[in-house]
Amino acid sequence: MTTYHALTEAEAVAYARTIPDLFTAGSELSSHEIGDGNLNLVFHISEASTGKSIILKQALPYAKVVGESWPLTLDRARIESEALQIQESLCPDLVPHVYTYDKDLALTVMQDLSDHVIMRKGLMDGNRYPLFAQHIGRFIAHTLFYTSDLGMNQQEKKLRVKQFINPELCKITEDLIFDDPYRDAETNDIPPAVRSEVEALWVDKELLLEVAILRSGFLTKAQALLHGDLHTGSIFITEDSTKVIDPEFAYYGPMGFDIGAVFANLLLNYAAQEGWSQDQLARDDYRGYLLGTIRDIWHTFSGEFRSIWSLYGVDRVFAGENYQEWYLEQVLRDAIGYTGCKMVRRVHGLAQVADINKLEDEAAKDRARRIALRIGTALIKHNRQAQSINDLLEIAAEAI
Ligand code: ADP
Ligand code: MG
Ligand code: MG
Ligand code: MG
Repeated sequence: MTTYHALTEAEAVAYARTIPDLFTAGSELSSHEIGDGNLNLVFHISEASTGKSIILKQALPYAKVVGESWPLTLDRARIESEALQIQESLCPDLVPHVYTYDKDLALTVMQDLSDHVIMRKGLMDGNRYPLFAQHIGRFIAHTLFYTSDLGMNQQEKKLRVKQFINPELCKITEDLIFDDPYRDAETNDIPPAVRSEVEALWVDKELLLEVAILRSGFLTKAQALLHGDLHTGSIFITEDSTKVIDPEFAYYGPMGFDIGAVFANLLLNYAAQEGWSQDQLARDDYRGYLLGTIRDIWHTFSGEFRSIWSLYGVDRVFAGENYQEWYLEQVLRDAIGYTGCKMVRRVHGLAQVADINKLEDEAAKDRARRIALRIGTALIKHNRQAQSINDLLEIAAEAI
Protein backbone atom coordinates (compact mmCIF):
# COMPACT_ATOMS: atom_id res chain seq x y z
CA MET A 1 0.00 0.00 0.00
CA THR A 2 1.21 3.52 -0.89
CA THR A 3 0.02 6.50 1.09
CA TYR A 4 -1.58 9.19 -1.00
CA HIS A 5 0.61 12.05 -2.21
CA ALA A 6 0.64 14.01 -5.46
CA LEU A 7 3.07 12.24 -7.81
CA THR A 8 6.13 13.96 -9.22
CA GLU A 9 6.96 13.38 -12.89
CA ALA A 10 9.71 10.94 -11.88
CA GLU A 11 7.28 8.99 -9.69
CA ALA A 12 4.76 8.94 -12.51
CA VAL A 13 7.40 7.35 -14.76
CA ALA A 14 8.26 4.77 -12.13
CA TYR A 15 4.56 3.96 -11.75
CA ALA A 16 4.06 3.62 -15.50
CA ARG A 17 6.86 1.02 -15.62
CA THR A 18 4.81 -1.25 -13.38
CA ILE A 19 2.03 -1.59 -16.00
CA PRO A 20 2.48 -5.09 -17.45
CA ASP A 21 3.30 -5.68 -21.12
CA LEU A 22 3.66 -2.04 -22.06
CA PHE A 23 7.11 -0.46 -21.93
CA THR A 24 10.46 -2.16 -22.61
CA ALA A 25 12.41 -2.90 -19.42
CA GLY A 26 15.13 -0.32 -18.84
CA SER A 27 14.13 1.94 -21.75
CA GLU A 28 14.02 5.70 -21.38
CA LEU A 29 10.59 7.17 -20.60
CA SER A 30 9.66 10.83 -20.61
CA SER A 31 6.89 12.43 -18.57
CA HIS A 32 4.96 15.69 -18.88
CA GLU A 33 2.13 16.98 -16.76
CA ILE A 34 -0.40 18.12 -19.36
CA GLY A 35 -3.55 18.66 -17.31
CA ASP A 36 -5.42 21.76 -18.39
CA GLY A 37 -8.38 20.78 -16.30
CA ASN A 38 -9.57 22.33 -13.13
CA LEU A 39 -9.27 19.48 -10.69
CA ASN A 40 -6.57 16.90 -11.44
CA LEU A 41 -3.03 16.09 -12.53
CA VAL A 42 -2.59 14.40 -15.91
CA PHE A 43 0.78 12.83 -16.79
CA HIS A 44 1.68 11.83 -20.32
CA ILE A 45 4.35 9.12 -20.24
CA SER A 46 6.03 8.03 -23.45
CA GLU A 47 8.78 5.77 -24.69
CA ALA A 48 10.79 7.35 -27.52
CA SER A 49 12.20 4.06 -28.83
CA THR A 50 8.79 2.44 -29.48
CA GLY A 51 6.42 5.41 -29.59
CA LYS A 52 4.28 3.75 -26.91
CA SER A 53 2.59 6.05 -24.42
CA ILE A 54 0.10 6.13 -21.59
CA ILE A 55 -1.86 8.59 -19.44
CA LEU A 56 -1.87 8.71 -15.64
CA LYS A 57 -4.64 10.86 -14.21
CA GLN A 58 -4.41 11.60 -10.51
CA ALA A 59 -7.03 13.35 -8.41
CA LEU A 60 -5.79 16.10 -6.10
CA PRO A 61 -7.41 16.45 -2.68
CA TYR A 62 -8.58 19.97 -3.61
CA ALA A 63 -9.89 21.80 -6.68
CA LYS A 64 -6.86 23.09 -8.58
CA VAL A 65 -8.89 25.96 -10.04
CA VAL A 66 -9.57 27.44 -6.60
CA GLY A 67 -6.59 26.09 -4.63
CA GLU A 68 -6.13 24.16 -1.42
CA SER A 69 -8.92 26.16 0.22
CA TRP A 70 -11.47 24.03 -1.68
CA PRO A 71 -11.01 20.42 -0.53
CA LEU A 72 -12.47 17.75 -2.78
CA THR A 73 -12.85 14.02 -2.25
CA LEU A 74 -10.34 11.62 -3.82
CA ASP A 75 -13.20 9.13 -4.23
CA ARG A 76 -13.94 10.87 -7.54
CA ALA A 77 -11.01 8.96 -9.06
CA ARG A 78 -12.82 5.70 -8.22
CA ILE A 79 -16.06 7.07 -9.65
CA GLU A 80 -14.25 8.12 -12.83
CA SER A 81 -12.46 4.81 -13.37
CA GLU A 82 -15.57 2.73 -12.62
CA ALA A 83 -17.76 4.89 -14.88
CA LEU A 84 -15.18 4.61 -17.69
CA GLN A 85 -15.21 0.85 -17.35
CA ILE A 86 -19.01 0.63 -17.51
CA GLN A 87 -19.01 2.97 -20.53
CA GLU A 88 -16.31 0.86 -22.15
CA SER A 89 -18.43 -2.27 -21.69
CA LEU A 90 -21.32 -0.51 -23.50
CA CYS A 91 -19.46 1.55 -26.14
CA PRO A 92 -15.89 0.19 -26.35
CA ASP A 93 -14.92 2.45 -29.25
CA LEU A 94 -16.08 5.67 -27.57
CA VAL A 95 -13.99 5.89 -24.37
CA PRO A 96 -10.29 5.42 -23.50
CA HIS A 97 -9.32 1.96 -22.27
CA VAL A 98 -8.57 1.86 -18.52
CA TYR A 99 -5.49 -0.22 -17.69
CA THR A 100 -5.76 0.07 -13.95
CA TYR A 101 -7.05 2.16 -11.06
CA ASP A 102 -5.04 2.66 -7.88
CA LYS A 103 -7.25 3.52 -4.95
CA ASP A 104 -4.45 4.59 -2.60
CA LEU A 105 -3.03 7.09 -5.08
CA ALA A 106 -6.44 8.09 -6.55
CA LEU A 107 -4.88 7.29 -9.91
CA THR A 108 -6.33 6.03 -13.18
CA VAL A 109 -4.02 4.66 -15.87
CA MET A 110 -5.61 4.94 -19.29
CA GLN A 111 -5.11 4.91 -23.02
CA ASP A 112 -3.28 7.92 -24.45
CA LEU A 113 -5.55 9.88 -26.82
CA SER A 114 -3.03 12.53 -27.82
CA ASP A 115 -3.72 11.79 -31.49
CA HIS A 116 -7.18 13.32 -30.91
CA VAL A 117 -7.98 16.95 -30.16
CA ILE A 118 -10.24 18.35 -27.48
CA MET A 119 -13.47 19.12 -29.30
CA ARG A 120 -13.85 22.59 -27.83
CA LYS A 121 -10.56 23.53 -29.47
CA GLY A 122 -11.50 21.77 -32.70
CA LEU A 123 -14.70 23.82 -32.91
CA MET A 124 -12.83 27.04 -32.12
CA ASP A 125 -10.55 26.20 -35.07
CA GLY A 126 -13.64 25.85 -37.28
CA ASN A 127 -13.30 22.09 -37.85
CA ARG A 128 -16.22 19.79 -38.64
CA TYR A 129 -16.68 16.26 -37.41
CA PRO A 130 -19.03 14.36 -39.71
CA LEU A 131 -19.32 11.27 -37.47
CA PHE A 132 -19.67 13.08 -34.16
CA ALA A 133 -23.49 13.16 -34.06
CA GLN A 134 -23.71 9.43 -34.70
CA HIS A 135 -21.00 8.66 -32.16
CA ILE A 136 -22.26 10.80 -29.31
CA GLY A 137 -25.90 9.93 -30.07
CA ARG A 138 -25.02 6.26 -29.68
CA PHE A 139 -22.92 6.97 -26.57
CA ILE A 140 -25.77 8.69 -24.76
CA ALA A 141 -28.40 6.20 -25.95
CA HIS A 142 -26.43 3.16 -24.78
CA THR A 143 -24.88 4.50 -21.58
CA LEU A 144 -28.23 5.94 -20.43
CA PHE A 145 -30.52 3.09 -21.51
CA TYR A 146 -28.41 0.20 -20.22
CA THR A 147 -27.86 1.78 -16.80
CA SER A 148 -31.54 2.66 -16.30
CA ASP A 149 -34.58 0.71 -15.06
CA LEU A 150 -35.50 0.28 -18.71
CA GLY A 151 -32.40 -1.65 -19.67
CA MET A 152 -30.82 -3.35 -16.66
CA ASN A 153 -31.83 -5.55 -13.77
CA GLN A 154 -33.71 -3.20 -11.47
CA GLN A 155 -32.33 -4.65 -8.23
CA GLU A 156 -28.78 -4.37 -9.51
CA LYS A 157 -29.53 -0.83 -10.61
CA LYS A 158 -30.28 0.14 -7.00
CA LEU A 159 -26.80 -1.04 -6.04
CA ARG A 160 -25.37 0.94 -8.95
CA VAL A 161 -27.06 4.06 -7.66
CA LYS A 162 -25.26 3.47 -4.37
CA GLN A 163 -21.94 2.76 -6.10
CA PHE A 164 -22.14 6.16 -7.76
CA ILE A 165 -23.27 8.32 -4.86
CA ASN A 166 -21.11 11.37 -5.59
CA PRO A 167 -22.23 14.09 -3.16
CA GLU A 168 -19.26 16.43 -3.36
CA LEU A 169 -19.12 16.65 -7.14
CA CYS A 170 -22.90 16.87 -7.40
CA LYS A 171 -22.76 19.77 -4.95
CA ILE A 172 -20.46 21.64 -7.34
CA THR A 173 -23.08 21.28 -10.07
CA GLU A 174 -25.96 22.11 -7.73
CA ASP A 175 -24.23 25.35 -6.71
CA LEU A 176 -22.49 26.48 -9.88
CA ILE A 177 -25.22 25.57 -12.36
CA PHE A 178 -28.49 25.75 -10.47
CA ASP A 179 -27.93 28.36 -7.76
CA ASP A 180 -25.10 30.89 -8.03
CA PRO A 181 -25.88 32.26 -11.53
CA TYR A 182 -29.38 33.20 -10.33
CA ARG A 183 -28.31 35.43 -7.46
CA ASP A 184 -25.51 37.82 -6.57
CA ALA A 185 -23.09 35.04 -5.53
CA GLU A 186 -19.41 35.62 -4.75
CA THR A 187 -18.35 32.86 -7.12
CA ASN A 188 -19.84 34.70 -10.10
CA ASP A 189 -17.57 36.53 -12.50
CA ILE A 190 -19.97 38.91 -14.20
CA PRO A 191 -18.71 40.57 -17.38
CA PRO A 192 -19.54 44.28 -16.92
CA ALA A 193 -21.19 44.63 -20.33
CA VAL A 194 -23.92 42.08 -19.50
CA ARG A 195 -24.43 43.11 -15.88
CA SER A 196 -27.97 44.40 -16.45
CA GLU A 197 -29.02 41.26 -18.37
CA VAL A 198 -27.62 39.12 -15.55
CA GLU A 199 -29.35 41.12 -12.83
CA ALA A 200 -32.62 40.74 -14.72
CA LEU A 201 -32.33 36.94 -14.30
CA TRP A 202 -32.28 37.27 -10.55
CA VAL A 203 -35.81 38.72 -10.47
CA ASP A 204 -37.36 36.79 -13.36
CA LYS A 205 -39.94 34.69 -11.52
CA GLU A 206 -40.91 32.61 -14.54
CA LEU A 207 -37.25 31.70 -15.11
CA LEU A 208 -36.54 31.02 -11.43
CA LEU A 209 -39.46 28.59 -11.22
CA GLU A 210 -38.11 26.57 -14.14
CA VAL A 211 -34.58 26.58 -12.69
CA ALA A 212 -35.97 25.31 -9.38
CA ILE A 213 -37.80 22.48 -11.17
CA LEU A 214 -34.68 21.54 -13.14
CA ARG A 215 -32.55 21.68 -10.00
CA SER A 216 -35.03 19.42 -8.24
CA GLY A 217 -34.76 16.96 -11.15
CA PHE A 218 -30.98 16.99 -10.85
CA LEU A 219 -31.25 16.25 -7.11
CA THR A 220 -33.87 13.53 -7.25
CA LYS A 221 -34.37 11.88 -10.64
CA ALA A 222 -32.10 8.82 -10.50
CA GLN A 223 -32.86 7.69 -14.06
CA ALA A 224 -29.51 6.58 -15.37
CA LEU A 225 -25.77 6.65 -14.76
CA LEU A 226 -24.78 10.03 -16.18
CA HIS A 227 -21.37 11.13 -17.33
CA GLY A 228 -22.16 14.30 -15.41
CA ASP A 229 -19.77 16.71 -17.16
CA LEU A 230 -20.30 16.05 -20.86
CA HIS A 231 -19.09 19.33 -22.33
CA THR A 232 -16.91 19.66 -25.42
CA GLY A 233 -13.81 19.81 -23.17
CA SER A 234 -14.59 16.22 -22.10
CA ILE A 235 -14.64 14.98 -25.69
CA PHE A 236 -11.56 13.99 -27.67
CA ILE A 237 -12.17 13.90 -31.39
CA THR A 238 -10.85 13.39 -34.92
CA GLU A 239 -12.71 13.16 -38.20
CA ASP A 240 -13.39 9.48 -37.66
CA SER A 241 -13.12 8.90 -33.93
CA THR A 242 -14.83 10.22 -30.79
CA LYS A 243 -13.70 9.46 -27.23
CA VAL A 244 -15.47 10.67 -24.12
CA ILE A 245 -13.20 11.32 -21.11
CA ASP A 246 -13.42 12.72 -17.59
CA PRO A 247 -16.58 11.21 -16.00
CA GLU A 248 -15.61 12.15 -12.43
CA PHE A 249 -19.03 13.83 -11.96
CA ALA A 250 -20.82 10.55 -12.78
CA TYR A 251 -23.90 9.83 -10.65
CA TYR A 252 -27.49 8.65 -11.11
CA GLY A 253 -29.45 11.59 -12.47
CA PRO A 254 -31.84 12.75 -15.21
CA MET A 255 -30.90 11.59 -18.72
CA GLY A 256 -31.55 15.03 -20.17
CA PHE A 257 -28.67 16.47 -18.17
CA ASP A 258 -26.00 14.69 -20.25
CA ILE A 259 -27.78 15.45 -23.51
CA GLY A 260 -28.20 19.08 -22.50
CA ALA A 261 -24.48 19.34 -21.72
CA VAL A 262 -23.59 18.40 -25.29
CA PHE A 263 -26.21 20.71 -26.83
CA ALA A 264 -25.24 23.63 -24.59
CA ASN A 265 -21.59 23.48 -25.52
CA LEU A 266 -22.37 23.34 -29.24
CA LEU A 267 -24.65 26.35 -28.74
CA LEU A 268 -22.00 28.28 -26.80
CA ASN A 269 -19.73 27.91 -29.82
CA TYR A 270 -22.68 28.93 -32.01
CA ALA A 271 -23.19 32.04 -29.88
CA ALA A 272 -19.52 32.99 -30.31
CA GLN A 273 -19.29 32.54 -34.10
CA GLU A 274 -19.06 36.26 -34.82
CA GLY A 275 -15.63 36.12 -33.28
CA TRP A 276 -14.49 32.88 -34.93
CA SER A 277 -15.79 33.09 -38.51
CA GLN A 278 -14.21 35.20 -41.23
CA ASP A 279 -17.39 36.60 -42.70
CA GLN A 280 -21.15 36.39 -42.67
CA LEU A 281 -21.33 33.52 -45.13
CA ALA A 282 -18.83 31.39 -43.24
CA ARG A 283 -20.57 32.21 -39.99
CA ASP A 284 -24.03 31.24 -41.22
CA ASP A 285 -22.59 28.08 -42.68
CA TYR A 286 -20.83 27.03 -39.49
CA ARG A 287 -23.84 27.89 -37.38
CA GLY A 288 -25.93 25.73 -39.70
CA TYR A 289 -23.43 22.93 -39.20
CA LEU A 290 -23.72 23.23 -35.40
CA LEU A 291 -27.54 23.23 -35.41
CA GLY A 292 -27.56 20.33 -37.87
CA THR A 293 -25.29 18.44 -35.48
CA ILE A 294 -27.70 18.99 -32.59
CA ARG A 295 -30.62 17.79 -34.73
CA ASP A 296 -28.65 14.71 -35.83
CA ILE A 297 -27.61 13.92 -32.25
CA TRP A 298 -31.22 14.00 -31.09
CA HIS A 299 -32.37 11.82 -33.97
CA THR A 300 -29.57 9.31 -33.50
CA PHE A 301 -30.13 9.24 -29.76
CA SER A 302 -33.91 8.86 -29.91
CA GLY A 303 -33.83 6.34 -32.79
CA GLU A 304 -31.19 4.21 -31.10
CA PHE A 305 -32.86 4.50 -27.70
CA ARG A 306 -36.24 3.34 -29.06
CA SER A 307 -34.67 0.50 -30.96
CA ILE A 308 -32.66 -0.94 -28.05
CA TRP A 309 -35.65 -0.42 -25.78
CA SER A 310 -37.87 -2.49 -28.09
CA LEU A 311 -35.26 -5.23 -28.36
CA TYR A 312 -33.74 -5.30 -24.87
CA GLY A 313 -36.20 -3.59 -22.53
CA VAL A 314 -36.35 -5.44 -19.20
CA ASP A 315 -39.71 -4.19 -17.93
CA ARG A 316 -43.04 -5.52 -19.19
CA VAL A 317 -45.03 -2.58 -17.80
CA PHE A 318 -42.79 -0.09 -19.58
CA ALA A 319 -43.00 -1.87 -22.93
CA GLY A 320 -46.07 -0.03 -24.26
CA GLU A 321 -45.68 2.32 -27.20
CA ASN A 322 -47.48 5.18 -25.46
CA TYR A 323 -45.12 4.99 -22.52
CA GLN A 324 -42.09 5.09 -24.84
CA GLU A 325 -43.48 8.21 -26.50
CA TRP A 326 -44.16 9.88 -23.16
CA TYR A 327 -40.74 8.93 -21.83
CA LEU A 328 -38.81 10.34 -24.77
CA GLU A 329 -40.83 13.53 -24.64
CA GLN A 330 -39.84 13.99 -21.00
CA VAL A 331 -36.19 13.35 -21.85
CA LEU A 332 -36.36 15.93 -24.65
CA ARG A 333 -37.91 18.51 -22.32
CA ASP A 334 -35.31 17.89 -19.65
CA ALA A 335 -32.55 18.06 -22.26
CA ILE A 336 -33.82 21.44 -23.44
CA GLY A 337 -34.07 22.80 -19.89
CA TYR A 338 -30.60 21.58 -18.92
CA THR A 339 -29.16 22.94 -22.16
CA GLY A 340 -30.37 26.35 -21.04
CA CYS A 341 -28.94 26.00 -17.52
CA LYS A 342 -25.59 24.85 -18.86
CA MET A 343 -25.41 27.86 -21.18
CA VAL A 344 -26.37 30.52 -18.66
CA ARG A 345 -23.78 29.51 -16.06
CA ARG A 346 -20.97 29.71 -18.63
CA VAL A 347 -21.70 33.40 -19.28
CA HIS A 348 -21.22 34.79 -15.78
CA GLY A 349 -20.62 31.94 -13.34
CA LEU A 350 -17.41 30.31 -12.13
CA ALA A 351 -15.46 28.48 -14.88
CA GLN A 352 -16.53 30.01 -18.20
CA VAL A 353 -15.76 28.70 -21.69
CA ALA A 354 -12.90 29.41 -24.06
CA ASP A 355 -15.32 29.58 -27.03
CA ILE A 356 -16.38 32.98 -25.66
CA ASN A 357 -13.59 34.09 -23.35
CA LYS A 358 -10.75 33.46 -25.81
CA LEU A 359 -12.23 35.83 -28.39
CA GLU A 360 -9.95 38.81 -28.96
CA ASP A 361 -12.59 41.29 -30.01
CA GLU A 362 -14.31 42.58 -26.86
CA ALA A 363 -17.47 43.56 -28.72
CA ALA A 364 -17.78 40.08 -30.25
CA LYS A 365 -17.26 38.58 -26.81
CA ASP A 366 -20.08 40.62 -25.29
CA ARG A 367 -22.35 39.90 -28.22
CA ALA A 368 -21.64 36.16 -27.76
CA ARG A 369 -22.54 36.47 -24.08
CA ARG A 370 -25.82 38.20 -24.90
CA ILE A 371 -26.73 35.56 -27.47
CA ALA A 372 -25.86 32.76 -25.03
CA LEU A 373 -28.00 34.34 -22.31
CA ARG A 374 -30.85 34.87 -24.74
CA ILE A 375 -30.81 31.26 -25.95
CA GLY A 376 -30.20 29.84 -22.47
CA THR A 377 -33.03 31.68 -20.77
CA ALA A 378 -35.47 31.03 -23.64
CA LEU A 379 -34.73 27.30 -23.49
CA ILE A 380 -35.18 27.21 -19.73
CA LYS A 381 -38.53 28.97 -19.99
CA HIS A 382 -39.76 26.79 -22.82
CA ASN A 383 -38.53 23.39 -21.63
CA ARG A 384 -41.76 21.93 -20.21
CA GLN A 385 -43.73 22.82 -23.34
CA ALA A 386 -41.26 21.51 -25.89
CA GLN A 387 -42.68 19.15 -28.51
CA SER A 388 -39.71 18.46 -30.72
CA ILE A 389 -36.03 19.21 -31.19
CA ASN A 390 -37.12 21.87 -33.68
CA ASP A 391 -38.26 24.00 -30.73
CA LEU A 392 -34.64 24.27 -29.59
CA LEU A 393 -33.36 24.88 -33.10
CA GLU A 394 -35.88 27.66 -33.66
CA ILE A 395 -35.00 29.38 -30.40
CA ALA A 396 -31.32 29.27 -31.37
CA ALA A 397 -32.03 30.60 -34.86
CA GLU A 398 -34.14 33.48 -33.54
CA ALA A 399 -31.50 34.57 -31.04
CA ILE A 400 -28.89 35.76 -33.56
P1 ADP B 1 -9.95 17.36 -15.43
O1 ADP B 1 -10.90 16.44 -14.73
O2 ADP B 1 -8.95 17.91 -14.52
O3 ADP B 1 -10.68 18.34 -16.30
P2 ADP B 1 -9.43 15.80 -17.85
O4 ADP B 1 -9.69 14.34 -17.74
O5 ADP B 1 -10.43 16.62 -18.56
O6 ADP B 1 -9.12 16.39 -16.40
O7 ADP B 1 -8.02 15.99 -18.53
C1 ADP B 1 -7.41 17.26 -18.61
C2 ADP B 1 -6.60 17.34 -19.88
O8 ADP B 1 -5.60 16.32 -19.89
C3 ADP B 1 -7.42 17.08 -21.15
O9 ADP B 1 -8.03 18.26 -21.61
C4 ADP B 1 -6.37 16.57 -22.09
O10 ADP B 1 -5.63 17.64 -22.62
C5 ADP B 1 -5.46 15.75 -21.17
N1 ADP B 1 -5.90 14.34 -21.14
C6 ADP B 1 -6.76 13.77 -20.28
N2 ADP B 1 -6.96 12.46 -20.56
C7 ADP B 1 -6.19 12.19 -21.64
C8 ADP B 1 -5.95 11.02 -22.42
N3 ADP B 1 -6.54 9.85 -22.13
N4 ADP B 1 -5.09 11.13 -23.46
C9 ADP B 1 -4.48 12.29 -23.75
N5 ADP B 1 -4.66 13.43 -23.04
C10 ADP B 1 -5.50 13.39 -22.01
MG1 MG C 1 -11.94 17.84 -17.80
MG1 MG D 1 -9.96 19.75 -19.42
MG1 MG E 1 -12.91 16.65 -14.73
